[in-house]
Amino acid sequence: MFTGIQATFIGGDARQLEVIKKFIELDASVTLIGFDNLESNFTGAVKKELSLDVLRDTDTLILPIVGTDEKGNVESIFCSNSITLTADHFEAMNPNVSIYTGIAKPFLKEQCAANQLRLTEILDRDDVAIYNSIPTVEGALMMAIQNTDITIHGSTSIVLGLGRVGMSMARALHALGARVKVGARNPKDLARIFEMGLTPFELGGLADQVVDADIVYNTIPKMMLTEQVIARMPHDTLIIDLASKPGGTDFRYAEKRGIKALLAPGLPGIVAPKTAGQIIANTLCRLVTKHLANREGTS
Ligand code: NAP
Repeated sequence: MFTGIQATFIGGDARQLEVIKKFIELDASVTLIGFDNLESNFTGAVKKELSLDVLRDTDTLILPIVGTDEKGNVESIFCSNSITLTADHFEAMNPNVSIYTGIAKPFLKEQCAANQLRLTEILDRDDVAIYNSIPTVEGALMMAIQNTDITIHGSTSIVLGLGRVGMSMARALHALGARVKVGARNPKDLARIFEMGLTPFELGGLADQVVDADIVYNTIPKMMLTEQVIARMPHDTLIIDLASKPGGTDFRYAEKRGIKALLAPGLPGIVAPKTAGQIIANTLCRLVTKHLANREGTS
C-alpha cells in the first residue's frame, strides 16, 4: 500500500489515467496538476495549480511518458493552459523526491542532476519494452491489414532486427501464417531465428532478400532501407517502419519509386492507451514499492 505517500501527477495523456487510478487504489494521497478538463472525477485526488509549495510536499512526482521538452514544458491533453517546469521548481523540490518519466530529454536530466534529485526513466527497461511490444505489434498488424489488399497469412514478410519489438513481430507474423524472413547482424540472433522456424539472413544481404517482399517491418533505429534496397523491392511492397524517429527508411526515395512507406511511432498509446497505461501503472507500482522497501531498510 502507498498510504502516506504524497504523489503528484503533472500532465500526460490517456495512459496516465490508469496510473492515477492505481495510485488511488493503493491509498496514495494524489495531487493532479494540468488535469483541469478531465471529465472523470477521481475520488480522493485533488486538482491543484503548479506551485513551489506543492512540489515541496511531493515525495513521488510522475511526469508524462515524454517528460518535458527542452524548455521544461509539460504536455497535458487534459488542460488548455501551458505548464512549464522551471529551474525554481526543481530547486524547491523535496530533496528526497522520486521523479518518474518515460524518456527524459536533456533539460529534465540536467535539472535533476543539478539538484541531486532521483530520476527514473521507465520506457527503456527490458520488461516495459517487452510488454509494450505487444500493443506495438498489434498496431503494426492493423496498419498492414489497412494498407494491403492481401492477407498476412501467406505473405512474404520481412522483419529487420530481433530485439524486443522484432522478436514479438516475427512471432506474431509466424503465428498468422506469413512466410517470415528476419534480418539480424548477431550470429546468436540468426541462430534463434532459425530455431523459431523462420528464415534468417544477414543484414548485408538485405537488398537480395527484399525482391519478393510483400511487407517489410523495420525495428532497427538506423538507416536500413536505403535507395539501393528499396530499388530492388516490388512496386507493391509495403514498408512499416517501427523504429524511433526518423526511422530507418529513405522515405524520399520510397515516395519517388511509388512504394508506400509508413513511419509508425507511438503505437501503444494510439492503439491501446488503456493497456499501455496499465503497463506503466504496474511498472511504477513495482518501482515505488521497491523504493519504499529500500528506504525502510536503510532507516
Ligand atoms: P531493441 O530491443 O534494442 O532492438 C533493436 C534491434 O535493432 C536489435 O535487433 C539490434 O541488434 C538492432 N540494431 C540496432 N542498431 C543496429 C545497427 N546499427 N545495425 C544493425 N542492427 C542494429 O529495441 P526495441 O525495443 O526492439 O525497439 C526497436 C525500435 O522500435 C526502437 O527504435 C524503439 O524506440 C522503437 N519502438 C517503436 C514503437 C512504435 O510504436 N513504433 C514501440 C516500441 C519501440 P543488436 O542486438 O545486434 O544490437
